[in-house]
Amino acid sequence: MSTNPLPPASVVQVLNTPVHVVDMDETMAHVRRFMQEPRLHQIATTNPEFVMRAQTDEPFRQVLEQADLCIADGIGLVLATRWLGKGVPERVPGSELVYHLAQLAAEEKWRLFLLGAAPGVAEEAAALFQAQFPSLLIAGTYAGSPDPAENEEIVARINRSEADLLFVAYGAPRQDKWIAGNRDTLKSVRVAIGVGGSLDFVTGRSKRAPMWIRKIGLEWLHRLFLEPWRWRRMLALPRFAVKVLFSPRRRSG
Ligand code: UDP
Repeated sequence: MSTNPLPPASVVQVLNTPVHVVDMDETMAHVRRFMQEPRLHQIATTNPEFVMRAQTDEPFRQVLEQADLCIADGIGLVLATRWLGKGVPERVPGSELVYHLAQLAAEEKWRLFLLGAAPGVAEEAAALFQAQFPSLLIAGTYAGSPDPAENEEIVARINRSEADLLFVAYGAPRQDKWIAGNRDTLKSVRVAIGVGGSLDFVTGRSKRAPMWIRKIGLEWLHRLFLEPWRWRRMLALPRFAVKVLFSPRRRSG
């Protein structure tokens, strides 16, 4: 590994919401760096729904502003960064990042904790990761909930597990607010990431689009087709596109 410290990733502001200009390999390099610094680092898997939510939810926008890395999880976001002048090189889907992180955790002996999703999903995802990466150390799994009444107990559970890496699957914005709210109470965690529905993909409860659909940037349409109840949430996409097209194009970061 290089001895030169990795400089922080550059940022492009999309509708006043930060997105880091990184590809998958750079994301992993940042994770390695984060693991060496004795504090919790937050990663957000930003998509257009996040950005639209941040327009009206200032506490959420601040969580994203303070996150250590906001990756572009969504073709709409990649296109928006290109339109705004500083393009993110590629989409970094959370559903793929979880496999890269699990593999690196296995190699580096980082202890992984899976929090959230429906009861049983985190356990099943942990078993599948472990089957794929046999040296992976699972610190713990727990469905729990983002309800503040459960916070203390969940934090104590994760602290007892001495986890280094934490996946939180409560869906945005709750998972990201949960992580930000526990930056100081989670003692051993160095990297925490809101993974949305990724554990549902890992366990096969949700199906990802075939590769050709992903390649032409239509994974969102495939998801809408399989999970039509998402239509209301997905209205954020055209609203996002219009807002970006009419926003001033200037560089930042
Ligand atoms: N979820 C949860 N507790 C909650 C709300 C959601 O564990 O109180 C889980 C849900 O089971 C799913 C994940 O959060 O596994 C993400 O949900 P969603 O599909 O909304 O996420 P997206 O991938 O769209 O960000």
